[in-house]
Amino acid sequence: MVTAPGLFARHLAELDVGTLAAHGAAATDADVTAALRRDRLTLEDVAVLLSPAAGGRLEELATRAREATLRRFGRAVRLFAPLYVSNACLSTCTYCGFAKDLAISRRTLSVDEVADEARGLVDRGFRHLLLVAGEHRVEVSADYLVAVVERLRTFVPSIALETQTWSDDTYARLVGAGADGVVHYQETYDRARYAEVHRAGWKRDFDRRLSSTERAAEAGVRRLGVGALLGLAPDWRADVLAVAAHAAFLVRRYWRTEVTVALPRIKPSASGFQPQVPVGDAEFVQALCVLRLYEPEAGIVLSTREPAALRDGLARIAVTHMSAGSSTEPGGYSHPGEATEQFAISDERSPAEVAAMLDAAGYEPVFRDALPLYEVQSR
Ligand code: SF4
Repeated sequence: MVTAPGLFARHLAELDVGTLAAHGAAATDADVTAALRRDRLTLEDVAVLLSPAAGGRLEELATRAREATLRRFGRAVRLFAPLYVSNACLSTCTYCGFAKDLAISRRTLSVDEVADEARGLVDRGFRHLLLVAGEHRVEVSADYLVAVVERLRTFVPSIALETQTWSDDTYARLVGAGADGVVHYQETYDRARYAEVHRAGWKRDFDRRLSSTERAAEAGVRRLGVGALLGLAPDWRADVLAVAAHAAFLVRRYWRTEVTVALPRIKPSASGFQPQVPVGDAEFVQALCVLRLYEPEAGIVLSTREPAALRDGLARIAVTHMSAGSSTEPGGYSHPGEATEQFAISDERSPAEVAAMLDAAGYEPVFRDALPLYEVQSR
């Protein structure tokens, strides 16, 4: 059964980001100047600021983005750790090192093993963990995840999940167990390309995935993460436009939630997948700056996929959430090398080293997410 389009999917169809991106790509320097003068960007401005012409004015973009980040988030960068609980997967996504048909070393942690990994991360200072798993409805069932979250909630203040998508009942159970965040990257908002790279399994259902953050928010999840995997679709600008529109939609519709965005770039993995159109560092920085300017309320997440020098620079411009000291294999913090990782990381510094870098740059490394403003105000 295929899921019917959700609210944002219908909005996205009206926006036609492909056409917007194509118009924007032909922007002139004068168009860029006009867009940069506006206090509040339109999606047309976003398309202009993602253009090659705007790429020539990256320093101006970065200065504006830095100002917007400081206004909304101050000098604080939140640090979190991914905790991979399983690399079992029943889906076939051509770009992923956990895809079903790959002959890799697979492992699903027991609840006790997850708790051991989590304790090690808490000892390193983390208070916000992101539980990550492949899509395996038997090994990583709703009951299993509820049991994991219930166990961790006694010593981990903030628990988010990056797993398969769920029904609203299951999101409600996970919230009841103690989860506060859900991350579901769409990977690409281009339906045709999505169908090409998601060959089999639950994740193949484009609309189920796209509506998942709406179901999670309705069920009471208070942190929502969306994003696109850059390099997957031929037109990265259209995907960045879609991420911008998605974040703005969630910020306005679910005003009690915190929304974050991310633009992971494809990294080497057991899949051997090569990006269709690689996105360079300058374009990557440009995209993050434009996201910051379009939706100042959304946090921007940067993982250890990116190299240290680039992460250090982006923490001063647009990024508000960073993972640190990450392992992308189940059990990898306590027993590295026993299972295959999802992808190779680039920034191998410890959490303490990343925190020291932020400190030296005049930023506060925050190991626990601040409470949403409405919760603080209602206390
Ligand atoms: S991206 Fe997720 S669903 Fe797809 S193969 Fe990888 S782990 Fe499985």
